[in-house]
Amino acid sequence: MSEELGTNQRPLRVAIIGSGPSGFYAADALLSSQVPVRVDMFDRLPSPYGLVRYGVAPDHQKIKNVIKVYERIAEKKGFAFWGNVNVGRDISLGELKRFFDAVILAYGAETDKKLGIPGEDLPGSHTATEFVAWYNGHPDYKDRRFDLSGEVAVVIGQGNVAVDVCRILCKTADELKTTDIAGYALDLLAASRVKEVHMIGRRGPAQAAFTPVEIDEFGDLGDCDPVVDPRDMEINEASRQELSDPANVHAIKNFEILKKLSSSASKTKRKKFYCHFLRSPVEIVGQGKVQKVILEKNRLEGEAGRQKAKGTGDKEELASDILFRSVGYRGIPMRGLPFNEEKGIVPNSQGRVMEGNQVLAGFYATGWIKRGPSGVIGTNKADSQETVKHLLEDMPQLQPCESQDMDALARLLLEKKGRVISFADWKKIDAVEMERGKCLGKPREKFVSLQEIVAVL
Ligand code: NAP
Repeated sequence: MSEELGTNQRPLRVAIIGSGPSGFYAADALLSSQVPVRVDMFDRLPSPYGLVRYGVAPDHQKIKNVIKVYERIAEKKGFAFWGNVNVGRDISLGELKRFFDAVILAYGAETDKKLGIPGEDLPGSHTATEFVAWYNGHPDYKDRRFDLSGEVAVVIGQGNVAVDVCRILCKTADELKTTDIAGYALDLLAASRVKEVHMIGRRGPAQAAFTPVEIDEFGDLGDCDPVVDPRDMEINEASRQELSDPANVHAIKNFEILKKLSSSASKTKRKKFYCHFLRSPVEIVGQGKVQKVILEKNRLEGEAGRQKAKGTGDKEELASDILFRSVGYRGIPMRGLPFNEEKGIVPNSQGRVMEGNQVLAGFYATGWIKRGPSGVIGTNKADSQETVKHLLEDMPQLQPCESQDMDALARLLLEKKGRVISFADWKKIDAVEMERGKCLGKPREKFVSLQEIVAVL
């Protein structure tokens, strides 16, 4: 007998893979709809919240307040969390799909874009994602090693991630110790000998990808002066046109702030943050480890709003003891699903997963794995609403799942995985983390391994 999905007798059953912002906004859109629905959210990590917990900088606690919104979503009737379940490894997508009418992929962009230049993989050349995950206490990155015994750090890229990395390197231990930074990272950063941090942008100050609030913070650091070369603030005609367009609010504000920083008189602090423009790394050089980076000077070509960096052939060297590549995140494929290698996303049409020209029935995507790694946390809300709207439109055609027996799914996962973390489990961990933090004057002291979490539970 065929069943009508999305009724009180037979609520729609949706699995969401990934518990970051896009996953939670998708859950919210489903649970706030008029359709009776059950939402099961899976994450490979024991803890929820994805990049809010492991990506947002520890000194940006206000941004993390969005977790309160996600907690309210998780408390809604019909929601369940399955932490420590790696879909694609612990359970195949096909096996999982047996229990759900639809699956929403919300697993983000886990890796980095490559620069594609010689020396990129030398010891001492790291991705920003590794460093960010490490200082945020991500279980997979807690054992990474970063040598901060040298004086010069170089960060390639000028997005907000690059800015976060620079700021963490520039701040004093006192400025970091009241954040939720991992304890081991605070120890290493407190002993850091880094005195110069160079952030390298391939385009000009009018095209920088960071946002005004983020760059403005460098004017106000405890023991670090920002340095912007006033000559870099002399821009071409197309850039002037860009800045005369009121729609470019961020660029206009960024430029004002950079101008202010370029004329800043204070140069007495111990550390320096150098913001360089119109330079691209062409080679990372060193005997056994990073020692310097070769930069090619660029000029901008193209019409206003579409200017690209073009190498001039003129090169310069910058000494570097440690280097971070921060040129954007990149999604990874999931076994059993199509993947667009060029864009690093799951191919989709407004959230409906596509295999060639065909819709892959029952599969949807949202967030960075849908559109690529762009936008702020809030951008994911509208993105997830669009995906859920299409899922609900498709509901009459969805193939009902083979089994609704969640105990069977739990047994299967128990066999394959051992411990699965529920939302109630997570709330206990959350409370203990905050309690541990209190003694240290921090918002929380994170557990950084599954073993620690299981021991507490
Ligand atoms: P992003 O904003 O896309 O910035 C990437 C940077 O890398 C740009 O400066 C880009 O320059 C540069 N780049 C790319 N390829 C390069 C190459 N081959 N050589 C040299 N430079 C290259 O990426 P992101 O910083 O990883 O941030 C990802 C998203 O998360 C963004 O939307 C960001 O705003 C958001 N985020 C927000 C916050 C916050 O709100 N506080 C914090 C962290 C991240 P071009 O501009 O020339 O392409």
